[in-house]
Parts: sequence; C-alpha cells; structure tokens
Amino acid sequence: MSRSLPNIIITGTPGTGKTSHSELLAERTGLRHISVNKVVKDKECHEGWDDEFQSWIVDEDKLLDAIEEDAKQGGCIIDWHACDLFPKSWIDLVVVLRADTATLYDRLKARKYSEAKLQENMDSEIMEVLLQEAKESYDEEIVVELQSVDTDGMESNIERIEQWLDQWKKNNAS
Ligand code: ADP
Ligand code: MN
Repeated sequence: MSRSLPNIIITGTPGTGKTSHSELLAERTGLRHISVNKVVKDKECHEGWDDEFQSWIVDEDKLLDAIEEDAKQGGCIIDWHACDLFPKSWIDLVVVLRADTATLYDRLKARKYSEAKLQENMDSEIMEVLLQEAKESYDEEIVVELQSVDTDGMESNIERIEQWLDQWKKNNAS
C-alpha cells in the first residue's frame, strides 16, 4: 500500500523534546501530530492507570486500531516514548531524540516527577534504550538520532526533517 505522505515517528525518553519537535514540525509541514498519550487517554486504549509508574497501562492492540486509519493514509507524526509496536510497513522515518543527563534531569525535575520515575528515565536515556529499540525494530537506514538540547538544535533538527520530507516527496512522486 502506498502513501502520498510519509509517516514519521518521533521518539525518545520522556523530556527529550518529542512533543515540542512534533508540534513545530506539524506547524511547518502540515503533517498531522499524533500524540499517542492523548490517543491512549481519549480513545481509552488502556487497561487503567498504574499508580506506581504514574502512567496508563496501554492496550497496544487497541492503540494500533485507533491510529491505523491515519497511518494508512500517511502524513502522521507519531509522538511517543516507545516505537517497537508500530508495524514496519507503516513507518518511513524514526527520529530518536537525545539529551544529556543534566539537561534531562532539569526538564524532568520541572515536571515534578517522583524520584523513582526520574531515575528510571535517566537510566533509560543513559542506556540508550529508545535508540536500541528503534534500531532493533526498523531498518537502520531509517533511524536518525538527533540531539535536543537547545532551541537552535531543535530548529536545525526540524530543518533536517523538512529536507528529508522534500526528498521523500520527490522520490515518491507518481
Ligand atoms: P517530551 O514530549 O519528549 O516529553 P517535551 O517536548 O514535552 O518532551 O519537552 C520537555 C521540556 O523540555 C519542555 O519544557 C520543552 O520546552 C523543553 N525542551 C525539549 N527539547 C528542547 C530543546 N531542543 N530546546 C529547548 N527546550 C527543549
Ligand atoms: Mn510529550
């Protein structure tokens, strides 16, 4: 099945800038920002709230059903802190955002994360969990690691993705 526009995953540890990047990219390109957090909540793709981890217990089948229609159509920016559940055939680019630990610490602290959740996310970033997950789930050539430390960096990340998008459109023009 061919798409007239590509689907892009923007992933990374919480606090690396997925939502900021997704919103800006959507604004610049007209692609649709799909906040998976919001879909999980609004369409009830979960089996309740996990109080210990302060997050929804996601029902992945329900979630995939909820976004399948959009994904088939193409032109989605999928914003989530996991990427291994989306079928390979849906995805054209996987952006893994990274931040140094000092920066990430400050951002998560500002969110008033519990010490346990803060530590879990810092470990995840240090261990490159999302980068590994992306590389294991998709062809390496569609996985791009980008630093998300300051606004200039975010600006150049967005420009890079826009250039990739232009190229994709040229390559896939019918
Ligand atoms: P995520 O969606 O990955 O959890 P957010 O986009 O919500 O991350 O970003 C978390 C916080 O860090 C926000 O306050 C955001 O403004 C800030 N932030 C993220 N990336 C950058 C960046 N590249 N430059 C400056 N601030 C950033
Ligand atoms: Mn977010």
